[in-house]
Amino acid sequence: MLRLPDNFQHFDEERKEGFLEVYEYKKQGKKVVGIYCSYTPWELIYAAGAIPVSLCGGGSDTITFAETKLPSNLCPMVKSSFGAAASDNCPYFYFSDMVLAETTCDGKKKMYEMLGKLKPVHIMQLPPGRDSNMSLQFWYNEMVRAKEVIEETLGTTITEENLKAAIKLKNRERKAVLDFYKLGMLNPTPLSGYEMSTMVDATEYCFDIEENIKTLQQRTIKAKEEYETIYESKPKKPRILITGCPIGGVRDKIVARVEEMGADVVGLESCSGPREKKDLVDETKDPLWALAEKYLRVSCSVMSPNDERFEALDDFIHNYDVDGVIEVVLHACHTFAIEADMVKDYVMNEKNLPYICITTDYSETDSGQIDTRLEAFIEMIG
Ligand code: SF4
Ligand code: SF4
Repeated sequence: MLRLPDNFQHFDEERKEGFLEVYEYKKQGKKVVGIYCSYTPWELIYAAGAIPVSLCGGGSDTITFAETKLPSNLCPMVKSSFGAAASDNCPYFYFSDMVLAETTCDGKKKMYEMLGKLKPVHIMQLPPGRDSNMSLQFWYNEMVRAKEVIEETLGTTITEENLKAAIKLKNRERKAVLDFYKLGMLNPTPLSGYEMSTMVDATEYCFDIEENIKTLQQRTIKAKEEYETIYESKPKKPRILITGCPIGGVRDKIVARVEEMGADVVGLESCSGPREKKDLVDETKDPLWALAEKYLRVSCSVMSPNDERFEALDDFIHNYDVDGVIEVVLHACHTFAIEADMVKDYVMNEKNLPYICITTDYSETDSGQIDTRLEAFIEMIG
């Protein structure tokens, strides 16, 4: 029977609202598919008539619970995600009919196996690289298999017509998100990086895509108008690009602090920014093949090699007039930690820009130390 979880009354108001919103959808008979990663083909879920929803993974409050089951020396995002799901603190996981996941990093893929004991979880096997046609063919086969599993689990049929419509709709949303992020190209930028990233995050929890497109387009137009009228006289500040791991769980202690210290975060080269949004799905090709091509290009460090990330960095550095790069690596994220050395070399030696790498987790214990390093970095650029 459909009901709210037993611990519902103990949640804060925001979390209660999240639960109630999904609860309403479920009462209307809608299916919900939980997702965690930028490799997830949202379009397959929309085409199945279901709602894709990003599952919680940015809070520190569920980590203690997670550490009763998982080793403590794991990435905080993996621990937070597992803790939220397994302790019924993630409304979206609680109401998900299934989870669509991928074999990205080791922590995530093993965590998904554990989540599979709580919910139907389908794990798409992601190729470790994209160098050969074999990788693309393999990933295409995984798209076909994911389609079949979604159909079987949700008791629905994904028609080619619905899939093409979902691709078109999601492409329109991507363009709206990209145009919004491109406000960071303006100098001085009319919006803080903090506002940009929180606003895009918020759209992931509004399940009406047309509404999301409208909200983003309106904010983009308004910010451009503000730029013309007010911001031309605004003093110029150091312009920072943030790169690396997703920053949802550390936004306050890094993005907010950088901006409070007098710099502008103008770009986010991460899954908290346009990493997945910058490539559209080709609407002229076979839809499953086009999805395979598009999602294989996501420039996450789990790919080896990962040339696409350096192309993205190059694009940001040139088009966003960047003065310095801050890399954020979450504790125990081996792939981003190792790639950080290549990023440092690229930024400092090829682009002649200042670079700093901050390794952190979701706790507050290192906030003072991070502040000191950020202050020195911004002062140096200043
Ligand atoms: S950083 Fe990689 S593994 Fe993490 S959400 Fe992004 S694509 Fe997925
Ligand atoms: S930040 Fe790194 S370790 Fe954490 S989930 Fe993403 S890829 Fe995995």
